Amino acid sequence: MTLANRGLFLAAIGCLLASLIAPAWGADGAAGKINVLIIDGQNNHKWQETTPVLKEMLLQTGRFNVDVLTSPPAKAPKDAWEKFRPDLSKVNVVLVNYTGSPWSKDIEKDFETFVQNGGGLVFYHAAVFSHPRWETWNLMMGMGWRDAKAGDRLVLDDSGKVVRTPKGEGPRSGHGPAHAFAVVMRDKDHPVMKGLPEKWTHVKDELYHGMRGPAKDMHILATAWSDPKGKGTGAHEPMAWTVPCGTGRVFVTLLGHDVPALKAPVGAALLVRGVEWAATGKVTIPAPKAPAAATE
Ligand code: ZN
Repeated sequence: MTLANRGLFLAAIGCLLASLIAPAWGADGAAGKINVLIIDGQNNHKWQETTPVLKEMLLQTGRFNVDVLTSPPAKAPKDAWEKFRPDLSKVNVVLVNYTGSPWSKDIEKDFETFVQNGGGLVFYHAAVFSHPRWETWNLMMGMGWRDAKAGDRLVLDDSGKVVRTPKGEGPRSGHGPAHAFAVVMRDKDHPVMKGLPEKWTHVKDELYHGMRGPAKDMHILATAWSDPKGKGTGAHEPMAWTVPCGTGRVFVTLLGHDVPALKAPVGAALLVRGVEWAATGKVTIPAPKAPAAATE
């Protein structure tokens, strides 16, 4: 079976268990630098402002090479879109700062093969709006900004237990007015979280709630209390999580609506560490030395 055929085969059945597939895009571990591809070009947020900051944050760690691929605008002529096809052959991890026009079936297959075979995928903030009708994308994302009918919803109760709400019940995705809020770590032993504070105060940002999706094999790393007094849901909403897909790894962070929110120290560390982990399964980037303590 050729690689291309294998990609098609895998694409038809979504995310497989890791042990079934040999990695083709092995990330390079601690030795060399990790190749990150940031994809932007359309967003309901200011991607022109956040992409340079994302790139600089990653470069400052000394751990990454960073390329940026900008898609054509939504109304670009057909031939511009025909030329748009991300080359993932030398990429270890894709950081998605994109939501907008659907991609071609060829690109979808490329991404599915890439992640199934060990590539990393990171969704940052509004990237969870992207590609609602792409089934495997939804599986890889776990949950995204969707209507309540689009999928299940996971939150944590006060005891830290995961509570699943079936699709069609409960709130759709949304957020109250942006505000500073506390983020609570939910797995202190996970490589991404190790050394980060157990609870920290994040700067003014949007606290997304009611995320929806297949929510399959999701591992929740951090949550925030969505306060009904601030038009929230009265639940501990997931802020960061992981999803396995084949031998690949997916990391999602909902933090970082704008540049100040993106640059908030612990949230920024969470993101760059999440990118490293998605690429390699390990984290060598140190946690911030004097993390901000939570005040609420
Ligand atoms: Zn936002």
